[in-house]
Amino acid sequence: STNVTERRAIAEQREQLLALERQQVEALSESQQLRDEFVALAGHEMRTPMAAILGYAELLMDDPDLTAAQRTFLAIIERRSRDLTELVDDFFDLARLNSGITTLDLVRLDLRSVVEEAVEAQRLQVQEKGLEIDTELAPAWVDGDAGRLRQVVDNLLSNAVKFTPTGGHLRVSVTPNGREVVVAVADDGIGISEEQLPYIFDHLFRAATAKQHGIPGTGLGLSITKALVLAHGGQIVAESRPGGGSRFVITLPLAGPGTGSGTGSGTAS
Ligand code: ADP
Repeated sequence: STNVTERRAIAEQREQLLALERQQVEALSESQQLRDEFVALAGHEMRTPMAAILGYAELLMDDPDLTAAQRTFLAIIERRSRDLTELVDDFFDLARLNSGITTLDLVRLDLRSVVEEAVEAQRLQVQEKGLEIDTELAPAWVDGDAGRLRQVVDNLLSNAVKFTPTGGHLRVSVTPNGREVVVAVADDGIGISEEQLPYIFDHLFRAATAKQHGIPGTGLGLSITKALVLAHGGQIVAESRPGGGSRFVITLPLAGPGTGSGTGSGTAS
């Protein structure tokens, strides 16, 4: 009978531990929500003064009496405020995505066209860097937010361009596979180390390879990309080797036959 009492005590202790853990998880997700709401609000408050700084810097640039030095300083103010505005926008966007404020505007669309347009939009940068880009795009109908899916592909493609030295190769494919479609963006650029690969979707994370090569960025693009893919019911993974290139693979559910022919909406969390 001591055995039974002992077992009961252990079971009780386990219950208490589980309850404590549940409480902690709840407190944590509540504080995360508060943080996301705060960032969303702060982002909004920061946009207004940034727009004023940028606007007046641009106005001053038009003054014909500026000295060369003044012109240089103004150009710096303008460029840096543009960077900061972009950073604030990304922060704002990510916080809204994470707190579930953002909703998706779902329509039935062909992912192939989205990818084609994204590739087209990168043509100039691809040419300027002397990169080659192969595409293998099959039609693939999904229920998705056209602008947001375009943002996802833009992010992956612009990273591939950014992190691939002159003369490199990019490869983009859209491949339906059963009930899913696989979108892959591959490059033979600088790559990411095995230890750092698990962190590249984290907020603000930038791999050592990117820093060593002095390639600028905020480390927010992939967090936003991942949040958007998850909001679409999809998944994203990355494979990479330092110096051996990277490959980002997105899987999204294909639109089922007959379900929802027009617009709808989904929430992003
Ligand atoms: P950013 O590009 O602004 O630095 P991202 O969130 O888009 O931020 O990417 C995070 C980090 O992941 C990058 O800083 C870089 O270290 C790494 N990364 C992303 N895409 C690639 C790629 N195609 N090749 C090599 N590294 C990459």
